[in-house]
Amino acid sequence: MASSIQYAVIGLGRFGSSLSKELTELGHEVLGIDRDEEKVDEMSDILTHSVVADATDEEVLRSLGVRNFDCAVVAIGDNIQASIMAAILLKELGVKTVVAKALTDQHGKVLEKIGVDRIIFPERDMGIRVAHQLVSPNLLDFIELSKNYTIAELVVSKRIAGLTLKELDPRARYGCSIVAINKSEDMIIAPTADDILQENDVMVVIGRKDQIDDFESEAIR
Ligand code: ATP
Repeated sequence: MASSIQYAVIGLGRFGSSLSKELTELGHEVLGIDRDEEKVDEMSDILTHSVVADATDEEVLRSLGVRNFDCAVVAIGDNIQASIMAAILLKELGVKTVVAKALTDQHGKVLEKIGVDRIIFPERDMGIRVAHQLVSPNLLDFIELSKNYTIAELVVSKRIAGLTLKELDPRARYGCSIVAINKSEDMIIAPTADDILQENDVMVVIGRKDQIDDFESEAIR
């Protein structure tokens, strides 16, 4: 197992509490900070440490030893001023990696200027993800590698079940390649032309976004 990493999560709202719970379940140490005592109480049995504190107070962050953490996540949303202030302090204290949740593009731009290492837009990104999944029913998940290139997980439908990769031939027909097939019992990495697709297998496909879209809508659906 990968070694345990120390995270500080600031703001234990819906996003921060879900994030910190998952990090704990993944085997990492999490310090949860919120100025709302109720939020801290709710998480106290779950997280390694949880404290009631105002993350915009430099002395408080210093006394909690936040600078020694590998990564700090600012999960304050609504209060943009507090989010920015907490991010500035964490960068100044020298936390190696600072991640912050942004509510709007403007909020994101400010966080970028401060030097926040990774900015996330949960509502915006989840909206995009769900739209793709609604439009492409066989699409489970995707990662954008660049502006054009994507890795997608596509479910094998009844229509193509029983075909070999050679018969389906997405590379020649659509320009995208199947780099792995996840079968319930095992994962085939770098499958060969003779590998057979079974219904509900998951194909990991790499290609241009439009090629994957065409493959999904014309060949699989
Ligand atoms: P979510 O969608 O995750 O529920 P949200 O976008 O509604 O969050 P907020 O409610 O503003 O965001 O913030 C999330 C949490 O951050 C809240 O529990 C709030 O108490 C906490 N918080 C806000 N400001 C501070 C601060 N200065 N120090 C510590 N915690 C704070």
